[in-house]
Amino acid sequence: MSQPTMKVDVDKCTGCYACFLACRDEYTGNDYLPLSAAQPPASQSWMRVEEIERGTFPKLKVSYIPIMCQQCEDAPCIEASTDGAVYRRDDGIVIIDPEKAKGQKAIVDSCPYGVIFWNAEKALAQKCTFCAHLLEAGGEPRCIEACPVAAIQLAGDRLDEGEKLHPEFGLDPAVKYAGLPKNFVTGEVVIKSEDGEECAANVTVVLKSDTEEHSTVTDIFGDFEFDGLTELAGRILIIHHDGHAPIEIPLAGETSIDLGLIELGFGL
Ligand code: SF4
Ligand code: SF4
Repeated sequence: MSQPTMKVDVDKCTGCYACFLACRDEYTGNDYLPLSAAQPPASQSWMRVEEIERGTFPKLKVSYIPIMCQQCEDAPCIEASTDGAVYRRDDGIVIIDPEKAKGQKAIVDSCPYGVIFWNAEKALAQKCTFCAHLLEAGGEPRCIEACPVAAIQLAGDRLDEGEKLHPEFGLDPAVKYAGLPKNFVTGEVVIKSEDGEECAANVTVVLKSDTEEHSTVTDIFGDFEFDGLTELAGRILIIHHDGHAPIEIPLAGETSIDLGLIELGFGL
């Protein structure tokens, strides 16, 4: 049987929170037994939107990552439950049984993605069900229906392609992402002249490591950028400067960097 899963395109997400609100609207005060018991008002986020900032002002980038149950293949929530309180359906969707899970707080702590919540009043662990009750009726999850830019889409079967959120957890999630934020390096190349400084357009900038080499040219403002980098340490930025030896800047650190103004000398 095919496993319904989701594709999330972070580049499309505007952080409008419509998915989060739709999820709240669907589950607050509404039981869908035996799949889910009602959420308490305003204390759970089965769908949350995480805001990630990279770089420093004025070269600051903000991304929004919608995060719901990742439907892990190696699901620790299933392992942590007793009496089959968390189980995988034939279609692959991981469900917390609202009756059997009563009193099993260990289920909440088992999820490294932090998408299981404790309902203190019902003494119950709760999470996203992929809106299984709507899928069964031929519909689609409320978050998908609510998203104005189609940043979340239903995929008909478990996807092999796409990025995994926190692959270091090693849980083989069925939800796949595109555009998860990575590190970038940016800067502005200027030419020193007797009258001061001016933007250096069309200057070739190369980013090199032992295994890769990327190249770009500065825009009319002298700006350049390399994004999508997992590691900065061990890379060298090289600015080619006609008539002079190239300027080499070794990079270090684990976060995005704005190198600021990089001055080329006279004689271009
Ligand atoms: S994301 Fe968390 S709740 Fe969902 S299957 Fe994985 S471990 Fe379980
Ligand atoms: S509804 Fe769509 S655009 Fe808005 S926060 Fe959710 S995923 Fe992002």
